Amino acid sequence: MAGTIAIKNGYVFDPLNEINGEKMDIFIRDGKVVKELSASEMKTSRVIDASGMTVMPGGVDSHSHVAGAKVNAGRSMRPEDHYKANLKKTALTHSGSGYTVPSVYKQGYDYAAMGYTTVFEAAVPPLEARHTHEEMRATPLLDMGGYLVLGNNFFLMRYLRDGDMEKAAAYVAWMMKTHKTYGIKCVNPAGVENWAWGKNVSTLDETNIHFEITPREVIKGLTEINETLGMPMPVHLHANNLGHPGCYAITKDSLKIPDGVKTKQNMAVEWAETKMDLSRDRSVYLTHLMFNSFAGTTWGDCESGVKDIADYINNKDHVVIDSGCTPFGEATVMTGDGPAIHDLYTLTGNKWSNTDVEMECGSGVLPFTYLKSNPVHSLQWAMGLECLLLIKDPWKTIMTTDSPNGGPFTKYPEVMTWIMSEAFRKQTFSECHKWANDRSELGGINRELSLYDLAILTRANPAKTIGMAHRKGSLGVGADGDVTVYNINPQQLDANNYEALLRAFRKAEYTVKGGEIVAVKGEIVSLPEKRTYYSEVHVENEREKEMLVDVKEWFRYYTLGFANYPTPEKYLANPTPIQVNSER
Ligand SMILES: [Zn+2]
Repeated sequence: MAGTIAIKNGYVFDPLNEINGEKMDIFIRDGKVVKELSASEMKTSRVIDASGMTVMPGGVDSHSHVAGAKVNAGRSMRPEDHYKANLKKTALTHSGSGYTVPSVYKQGYDYAAMGYTTVFEAAVPPLEARHTHEEMRATPLLDMGGYLVLGNNFFLMRYLRDGDMEKAAAYVAWMMKTHKTYGIKCVNPAGVENWAWGKNVSTLDETNIHFEITPREVIKGLTEINETLGMPMPVHLHANNLGHPGCYAITKDSLKIPDGVKTKQNMAVEWAETKMDLSRDRSVYLTHLMFNSFAGTTWGDCESGVKDIADYINNKDHVVIDSGCTPFGEATVMTGDGPAIHDLYTLTGNKWSNTDVEMECGSGVLPFTYLKSNPVHSLQWAMGLECLLLIKDPWKTIMTTDSPNGGPFTKYPEVMTWIMSEAFRKQTFSECHKWANDRSELGGINRELSLYDLAILTRANPAKTIGMAHRKGSLGVGADGDVTVYNINPQQLDANNYEALLRAFRKAEYTVKGGEIVAVKGEIVSLPEKRTYYSEVHVENEREKEMLVDVKEWFRYYTLGFANYPTPEKYLANPTPIQVNSER
């Protein structure tokens, strides 16, 4: 354990405790935030002088692709990506390489250098859970967890089609325990199954092949199961028709499905002190809104549809989104939405990988470059920022690039600066294709987010949304001692001086993880232990037994034996189960 540390005299931004730039000290003992340290503890405590600097909880990324088969496919199919970024071994750290898809060591160091301490892998195919956990375990410094891909799962589609909600819920609970995963991910519901036949679905009410279930039924079923079980987070939805002109309409209609589903978060955890009520009121967490917000009918007449969806979200309280910003430059697109990646392959001819994960899901991977000279890419840049600026309540938004789909997470400093600085946006407008301005609302927006807003979008809200705010995303007593100190003096903050903001966000002055200083000005200085979180979801034994009879019967269609399916705990770094629905 890390002993004690005092972070003194910084300007603290801790939205979950409604602290907005107050000058104060933060104390940590044995990895947790405490009210104060005794005089004798102070004598031996490490002290960070944060005078004139910004202090926030450690960064929380609630949607990134950092571990598992498709990430590794991205690494292995892109040697050129690894020539571009190299990291030398030091006495403390491993070597590493990779720009858009870094090696496991490098991604841990790169996140920590920017002040991030918690990252959730956004798509874990059940059959690939062991591999995913191996890579999460090997990623240094970061506390992690993963969302289980369930929107095209054979077992679930059968149960939902037959209206057998009890067995469907028992199956989800068993799958979370079995694969040591944290929440429900739903990718292109009912459509990925059709991709196995070279097809997709294009409306919410189109039945898919063989299972004859519709996207609407899958979304409705999963959101209801999620609340029946009392999961920590809402269903994490990657909507249908991603990346198609006109897709904003189906996105908005998809968000209407869980409106009215009563939320119930039921987890037995110790809660850090916060002023804000942490109970979950969102029934859907829509991911990478930008990629699902195109209006128009073709790539020739396409335009931003973000305003329309933002208007809907501004009037509703059951939705939270992450943005999926595209900060220009190299990316590697990778998703469980196989047909969406095939569309990009036909557009670009770039090298392409496609996988069908037996009875569960699929995926596609393709290198991609977002160019300022390209009309659609420029529009996408504007749309991503619109997602964060047109939705009025920052507690409904989370900043991401869907790393590495819109760009690698190492581009977060650019996105953070664009949303804080109109001057930086104007500078980028002057460099990119005019579609960015002509076909979006961004040019007319003069909103500039504050450091407090930024702390919501990058710490407090991702943690609250996924049910991790009992220990992450705040600096309240009892929270994990994860802290970022940025070299930004809020008293002298000048959004026009965006170069200074970029510099500060790229390398945090200090990153503290569990009470230990892990990075100083971007240099890794220690490598404390990390944790993996998962949901241990309980249902009545009888329900589980009945369900397992079906699963074992259908299991003969898998290429592996039933006994080899689960992920043992030893695959996880410091496995930390969260008891869900535990009175069962
Ligand atoms: Zn994603």
